[in-house]
Amino acid sequence: MHVHIFWDAQSPAGLQMPVSRKISAILGVPTTVSENHVRMMGYVTERQQIDAPALLDSIQTYKHRHGIEEPVLLVVHQDLFKQGCSFVFGLARESVGAAVVSTARLGNEYYGLSGSDDDLMDRIVKEGAHEIGHLLGLGHCENRECVMFRPNTLDELDRKKKQLCSACYEQMAAHLSSE
Ligand SMILES: [Zn+2]
Ligand SMILES: [Zn+2]
Repeated sequence: MHVHIFWDAQSPAGLQMPVSRKISAILGVPTTVSENHVRMMGYVTERQQIDAPALLDSIQTYKHRHGIEEPVLLVVHQDLFKQGCSFVFGLARESVGAAVVSTARLGNEYYGLSGSDDDLMDRIVKEGAHEIGHLLGLGHCENRECVMFRPNTLDELDRKKKQLCSACYEQMAAHLSSE
């Protein structure tokens, strides 16, 4: 079993390999990264955002067409939303093994601060590992330092460590060994 990471051509260049390695280290599962070929569905012009559930549908279609059974995480540069939320950092649908993460709000520049590739990479890693964690059976965690904690703000995201708490790690290990 391994996890596919699809990197949209306009997502930050040069970060895909280190992001993939770090996500693999956090979760204890192999990852591969490749260029994205999933159709970018769900763009809403008035909001200048992508409807995340519609994009998950598109990933599901792609997986089905190409016979991909393993979990897929798509990393995109466009901002994402879902019904009832002004934005989401990412979204996962465990039943079909599909997740998406947006880099739109993960760079310092979005908040008027000077850019940092390290900050940006750390945030993509935490968000990516979080969504893949859902695909591998993990729910949200109360531990504010755990990757599976659900952050509402960039500060909360930054306060998380790049690791699972011991309870989540054990649950993940049990899930993987049961496959
Ligand atoms: Zn979550
Ligand atoms: Zn946890």
